[in-house]
Amino acid sequence: MYRPAMVLPPGSKQSVLSCKSQRLMMEHGLIRQSSPGVYHLLPLALRSLEKLIRLIDEEMHSIGGTKISMPCMTTSELWKATNRWETNGPELFKVEDRHGIQYCLGPTHEEAVTDLIASQGRLSHKQLPLRIYQITRKFRDEKRPRFGLLRGREFYMKDMYTFDANTENAIKTYEAVNQAYCRLFNRLQLHFVKVSADTGSIGGSMSHEYHLPADTGEDELWFCNRCGFGANKELGDIDIEHCSHCGTTNSLESRQGIEVGHAFYLGTKYSKVFNADYSDSNNQTRTTEMGCYGLGVTRILAAAIEVSSTDNEIRWPHLLAPYQIYIIPSKDGSKEAGAQPIAVGLYDQIVSHLPHLKHEIILDDRNHMTIGKRMKEAKSLGYPFVIVIGKKALQPEPLFELCNVNTGETRYLNTCDLFCTLSMDVNII
Ligand SMILES: [Zn+2]
Repeated sequence: MYRPAMVLPPGSKQSVLSCKSQRLMMEHGLIRQSSPGVYHLLPLALRSLEKLIRLIDEEMHSIGGTKISMPCMTTSELWKATNRWETNGPELFKVEDRHGIQYCLGPTHEEAVTDLIASQGRLSHKQLPLRIYQITRKFRDEKRPRFGLLRGREFYMKDMYTFDANTENAIKTYEAVNQAYCRLFNRLQLHFVKVSADTGSIGGSMSHEYHLPADTGEDELWFCNRCGFGANKELGDIDIEHCSHCGTTNSLESRQGIEVGHAFYLGTKYSKVFNADYSDSNNQTRTTEMGCYGLGVTRILAAAIEVSSTDNEIRWPHLLAPYQIYIIPSKDGSKEAGAQPIAVGLYDQIVSHLPHLKHEIILDDRNHMTIGKRMKEAKSLGYPFVIVIGKKALQPEPLFELCNVNTGETRYLNTCDLFCTLSMDVNII
């Protein structure tokens, strides 16, 4: 017998499992839970996710990243070679084919990518550095999935893997990727902290994490309110009296953070196992030095909503809003109903004058609803700009009410000023 998917695992409490972003995303139809920790992404969430992916692609391309797509299924042989079939055991979703061969649904792809590179044969030093990445679905059998997309069992991740000739070059790559991450979060206008972190099961000798400070965060951080330098508390022996970076006394603050990205310098941990080698300029065989760099893509989406939204209204980083402009025509049968064709005309004019915004506009033609009701909905979904076509649109020189949802500012503008404002203030990716 089919039973509808459980909203919560048995015995768990709603209060433990939910947070603001999860609640808002579920209430406003962005996501729907399919099974614990597994979500459908509905149209608005998917549009926003696709924008975030375009932004990440831009930053990865800017540092010479090449995009690929590796299979979700990776054989147990690869994981056994690095011992992680056992050590990562309970977190791996394991599957078996009809011949009894075991696979896992990859939570990360160090093994797969290193094997892929090694299978091409020995690289030439002229092919390095190699910076390849993917944005694909990953799987992790979380013991207690919670907080919606913040800690799910199936999620999107961007993972970049880099191969360099020596430590010096690998560190340069490490810095380049870290700079790209900072640019990404700056473009999203998200307040973030970069902290030193433990290398955990991934291994390697240097690691940094990117966090959005938030009470929902599951990591405890120390960070300096002078220079922004920080560390994850799991690192242990941290001098909390003095900032080890800028030397300021008593400047360290303790806060929780949502981890949204990480960087690992791996050295030869994986390249040695799989013989990811290259020939140097003297035709000697050497082992490549690797790094791996993750961004939790669905997690960034949820975390951005978590830190930007009010209790009842979603707010987005500008670039990620699913649509930028929301047009509300007057209500059927109202005194200003005559302005309805003006709304359609305005939509056509925006499309012809600002063609780059063509796919960023919603014309809410549910004209049986009041303007107020549709405005409330537009605000709670966080569309950055709402244009109301009311009484003043019927004047000889029509005026349109433009509401900037993020600042709360409302202005009446003529057509010319409206286009001018939209062309300047609407940022799209
Ligand atoms: Zn400092």
